[in-house]
Amino acid sequence: MPPWVLGDVSVTRIIEAEDPLLSPYEIFPDCTPEHIAENASWLIPRWYDPVSELLVISIQSFVIRSGAMTILIDTCTGEGKNRARQRFHQRTWPWMERLRAAGVTPESVDVVMCTHLHVDHVGWNTRLENGKWVPTFPNARYLIARKEWEYWQHESRSEGLARTGNYITDSVMPVFAAGQADLIAHDYHIANMLWLESTLGHTPGHFAVHVAGGGKELVLSGDMMHHALQLRYPHWSTRFCADPNQARETRAAFLAKYAGTGMTIVPSHFPTPSGITIERAGDHYGFTFCDETIAGSYR
Ligand SMILES: [Zn+2]
Repeated sequence: MPPWVLGDVSVTRIIEAEDPLLSPYEIFPDCTPEHIAENASWLIPRWYDPVSELLVISIQSFVIRSGAMTILIDTCTGEGKNRARQRFHQRTWPWMERLRAAGVTPESVDVVMCTHLHVDHVGWNTRLENGKWVPTFPNARYLIARKEWEYWQHESRSEGLARTGNYITDSVMPVFAAGQADLIAHDYHIANMLWLESTLGHTPGHFAVHVAGGGKELVLSGDMMHHALQLRYPHWSTRFCADPNQARETRAAFLAKYAGTGMTIVPSHFPTPSGITIERAGDHYGFTFCDETIAGSYR
């Protein structure tokens, strides 16, 4: 898929995997088989695989290029790591080949930003070198929201990572050890090309990334929502949300703010083409894929 072009700024998706991954009942405590049946006409096949009965989830990064600057947003699950979920455990993926094919070498990345510090957003932060985890991007500053870091620093010392495996130790700590991490506030911005929007709740320091150029704008919304079922049922938070109530309030405000504006919203885990515009539809929301060559809408 071609990148989004916003004047002299481009945004390219680098997909690690896009497959049926999660049971809807695992991720959404409110979901029942009746919900899936009611929405089958638009869920199948892009959003839900009826054979495995799993939701289709994309795990991807975004490369933003502006002039000589290369920014990488989110780094998927990574390679060769010990993880509790078998699907992520000691895996290899063609992610680095895809990054290089997009014209990006590890050395050329200037900035790495993680919308939040979950296991599927920090993996390629590090790679194994002589038995030691080191930053994958040797010349990059890794920008991490201060609130997010304070939370996960604590969680990684407690039982907070039992569900996933201690990915903070292999994928975040080494970036600090190498002196490449900078803690940022949510008012961080790069001129009027990139700025953050606070979207707390899924995690305590979660942010969305606005990218703008040539009079156009899009929002990389991270895990503010995970699946289009949350447009149909905006009150559904996930089992993985640190504060499900705050996540619900954040999502309600975000959807109300952008519905009907034509803004391209790009949630991390939405399958190809990932970008949508949203419209209010009574008590919920409808969407249209921003790439008209790919059919798909729900109202
Ligand atoms: Zn995620």
